[in-house]
Amino acid sequence: MFKKFLSFLIILSSVVASLTCAETDSSFDKNKRTLVIAHRGASAYLPEHTLEAKALAYGMHPDYIEQDLVLSKDNHLIVMHDIYLNSTTDVADVFPDRAREDGHFYTIDFTLEELKKLRVSEAFIMGEDGPQAKYPHRFPLWKSSFQLSTFEEEIELIQGLNRSLGYDIGIYPEIKKPYFHHWEGKDIAAIALEKLKQYGYINRDQKIFFQCFDAEELQRIKYELMPALDMDIPLVQLIAATSWGEKLIQVNGNIQNYDYDWMLEQGGLRKIANYADGIGPWYPMLIEIQDGKPRANNVVRRAHRRHLQVHPYTFRADPEKLPEEFESFNHFLHFAAYQLHVDGLFTDHPDQAVNYLSRGNRKQHQQ
Ligand code: CA
Repeated sequence: MFKKFLSFLIILSSVVASLTCAETDSSFDKNKRTLVIAHRGASAYLPEHTLEAKALAYGMHPDYIEQDLVLSKDNHLIVMHDIYLNSTTDVADVFPDRAREDGHFYTIDFTLEELKKLRVSEAFIMGEDGPQAKYPHRFPLWKSSFQLSTFEEEIELIQGLNRSLGYDIGIYPEIKKPYFHHWEGKDIAAIALEKLKQYGYINRDQKIFFQCFDAEELQRIKYELMPALDMDIPLVQLIAATSWGEKLIQVNGNIQNYDYDWMLEQGGLRKIANYADGIGPWYPMLIEIQDGKPRANNVVRRAHRRHLQVHPYTFRADPEKLPEEFESFNHFLHFAAYQLHVDGLFTDHPDQAVNYLSRGNRKQHQQ
C-alpha cells in the first residue's frame, strides 16, 4: 500500500515537474506580458544612449534597457548607435580636422579621453540651414549637458539601480557593424563578451539578450567565442532589409550589401534557430495589409514553431512616426501584443508601453 502511494507520489511529482517545466520553457505563453525593451533608453524624452536617458528609462520600469556598442581607438566600448559622431555630438566643432575623406567623424578614430570632451545633443540632421532635429517634438537640440558613456558606466548604472531600487532590469547590448570593426583590425564581439563576463553576465540566469545584425558574427559568438569564455547567453538575430546596407561584404574586390532575404524565406528561421534564441525583425516584416487593415503574416508563427522569441523594432509614439494603419500608439501596441503575439518589443516610449501592456487589456485597445 505504502509502495503504491509512494509510486503515486513520484508520478504526481514528475507530472507537476513537467507541467512547471513546460510553463517555464514556454517563451510563448500567451498570458505572459510582452517584454518592453527601452530602445536606446527613454530615447523619446532625453538624448539617446546618455546615462540620463538610461536612468529615466529605468524609472519607467521596462524589462530591458538597450545598449548599442561601438569601439573607440583605444578599444573602449562606447554606448552609441552610429559608427560616426556626426549626428549626436559637437565633434565637428571640437575636432574639425579629424573627419575622414567621406566627411564622417568615426568614433573608432578617437580615444576615450577625446570622446569625453564631446557634448552630446538630441539627434540632428545637418541641413543647409544648420542642424535640424531628427524628431521635432523631442528634447531640444544642444540643451543641458550630456556626454558619451562607456559600456562599463552604463552597466554599473543599471546594476547599481537594481541594487538601490530592488528591480531586476536586464541589459540588451548590440554590437554595431562587426564587419566594419574587423576591417579596422578590431574584434568588438570578443571585447564585448569579455566585458559582460567581467560584470557577471555569463549564462541564462542573468537578465540579458545579446543582439546583432550579423549572422556570421553571431555564429562565431555561439560556436567559438562563448565556448572559449565558458559563457552561454541568449542571442538575438536582428533582421534588416537588404537595401539598408546594414552589413557590407567584399565580393571579388567589390563592396556590396549583404543579402538578408534568406532569413525570412523557407528554411531561414530554422537555420537561425540553430544559433539564436530570438529574432529582432523590423515590425513591417510581420504584417500584411488586407483591405487597408493590418494582419499578422506567418513570420511570428513560424518563428515560434522554431522556439525563437520575436522582438520587433521600433515602436514610437511620435505622431509622425505612427504607421498609418493604426489610429493610436495604444492600437499599435495592442496589435503587436495580442494579434501578432510578439514576445517583446523595442520602444522609444517605454513608459507608454509598460503602462498599456501591464493593463492586460486584450479585448480592445484604449485610446
Ligand atoms: Ca540597436
